Amino acid sequence: MSKNINLQQYLGREIPCSCGRNHSTTLDALDIDRGAADRLPEYIRKKGWKKVYMVADINTWEAAGKDAADKLEKAGIAFEKYILPYRELVPDEKPVGEVFIHCPKDADIILAVGSGTINDMCKFISAQMKLDYIILASAPSMDGFVSVGAALIVDHVKTTYDAHCPIAVFGDPDVLVQAPMDMISAGLADILGKYTCLLDWKMAHLINDEYYCEEVVAMVENALEIVTEQGPTIKDRNPEAAKAVMEALVLTGMGMFFIGNSRPASGCEHHMSHYWEMKFQMEGKKPVLHGTKVGINMIAATYMYRMLAKEDIDFDAAMARPFDYEAWKARVERCYEDAAPGIIALEEKCKKNDISARNQRLAFYKDHWSQMQAMIEDNLPQVKDMENLLQMLGGPINPAQIGVSSEMVEDGVVLAKEVRDRFTLLQILWDLGLSEDYGHRLAVYFSEEQGK
Ligand SMILES: [Zn+2]
Ligand SMILES: [Zn+2]
Repeated sequence: MSKNINLQQYLGREIPCSCGRNHSTTLDALDIDRGAADRLPEYIRKKGWKKVYMVADINTWEAAGKDAADKLEKAGIAFEKYILPYRELVPDEKPVGEVFIHCPKDADIILAVGSGTINDMCKFISAQMKLDYIILASAPSMDGFVSVGAALIVDHVKTTYDAHCPIAVFGDPDVLVQAPMDMISAGLADILGKYTCLLDWKMAHLINDEYYCEEVVAMVENALEIVTEQGPTIKDRNPEAAKAVMEALVLTGMGMFFIGNSRPASGCEHHMSHYWEMKFQMEGKKPVLHGTKVGINMIAATYMYRMLAKEDIDFDAAMARPFDYEAWKARVERCYEDAAPGIIALEEKCKKNDISARNQRLAFYKDHWSQMQAMIEDNLPQVKDMENLLQMLGGPINPAQIGVSSEMVEDGVVLAKEVRDRFTLLQILWDLGLSEDYGHRLAVYFSEEQGK
């Protein structure tokens, strides 16, 4: 008996929560059922919008846009469309400008047809124009559908802008399941990343008393359970499984919205992925789907967490370690290149690596080591199971498959934590003086041991 996610329960109300806060979403409607596009015109009419501006690209127009346009036309709803003339859309100044330029003056709702990139662009543009937007999803490929941030490439740098949540999400499982398999497996991998991400959050709560919400954790764990159970049947293009992945992605996005930041959805597996992404940008390499990187780094983080669960630590030696600021800075400059000044400024401000704070944490680890080890055992799946699941859908499980070098893997383990002031496994490894060693052992695992 497969479980379902009842997403409707979260809409249109304030939810008083055991964490002491009230949670709510600005999402008004959600329809991830067969024939969703049939109900879109009715929803638009009910909300009283008079002119729809539909935005798609060549692929999403074919996948879902054309059908939706036919339905709007039949229902007599006024709309204009702009189809971005790209097969591989990069959300930089040019297409963002195009979508602005082609927007009819009297449009009062934007209908975005697509997934990651189109969603980000329309999320940003509609927020700038103070219009609502609806996303008609074409692929269950990432968890940003109902989050606030919009990632755009500006001056060649990926920048996340504060935007807003769509007013409605529509997606037909029969369409979603026909998306390219690499996009679906990326969506599934983005969900699997929540295993390590939630454990990071639990560790941060235990160690630093960071704000934590059990209900949101339970929401995301529910998404994980459903996806690991139903995910494998996606390879047979099972619409029910596509629906489950899509709902899980919406659910984790909602979790972020509830908390007000990405803590419920992004931990060390995301930080290492961001590091790779930034290196790819610097090297002018073709970008890799977000979830694909997250999947590989989820394996990396699970592998390292599991090593840590067996580690016998010499806490006194760890406490006696100096922080060689100059060596750290030199490595930051080598790895982060143009972005290094921002990284160094963040450390000046947050003092993540400061010795006295580190030693306080080390004293805590020492007293709670068996508890931390038990948390790892209790919360993480087996590396092999996750590799099998991703491989079943043709998803990469090794950095080399997407052009990431061993050096980039090692640098990521040591320095990916510097991009943000967020406590994760990578900080624990750093505190214990294990970053270098684990980075190396992880690189060896990927280059020599995986699959053996
Ligand atoms: Zn809560
Ligand atoms: Zn993600």
